[in-house]
Amino acid sequence: MPVTLDPECIFCRIIAGQAEASLVYRDDSTTAFMDIYPVTPGHVLLVPNSHASDLGHLTDEYGSQLFIIGRRVAQSMRRCGLRCEGINFFLADGQAAGQTVFHVHLHIIPRYRGDGFGIHRKPGFGPPPREELQAIAESLRGALRQSGWAD
Ligand code: AMP
Ligand code: ZN
Repeated sequence: MPVTLDPECIFCRIIAGQAEASLVYRDDSTTAFMDIYPVTPGHVLLVPNSHASDLGHLTDEYGSQLFIIGRRVAQSMRRCGLRCEGINFFLADGQAAGQTVFHVHLHIIPRYRGDGFGIHRKPGFGPPPREELQAIAESLRGALRQSGWAD
């Protein structure tokens, strides 16, 4: 797979061995290392070995490896002695979604009861009317077709 690194990007610098990291895993497509600000002990970041600022710039090849290796890291997390009653995958794509480092990365986060981490919803959250769900699904189907990703 072709590799492009951005010398300004902290994750590219980690991949290149130019910045300090606690490495967990490395192959031709991905690198996993410990998050420097873990939300729970064991919080890992998994990144493609080629710079892609966001999902729009990630190739299918690198993207699929991210999930394959992510699943393996998650399974290992359950077996390595960490407190791990569950696991979250989390990926922030874009600033509004909470992305702060613009090199795609999958957070792999060990979870346990009372760990304080979670996705918060606004008060009064409930299911919208079915028509609204149908209308949005139709728009999404149209966009998938337009990209040639669905029939
Ligand atoms: P996000 O907010 O989804 O873009 O996540 C960026 C993550 O990168 C945060 O959880 C940071 O703690 C983590 N991070 C930033 N710099 C480093 C670094 N040098 N080594 C390890 N993790 C880092
Ligand atoms: Zn990068």
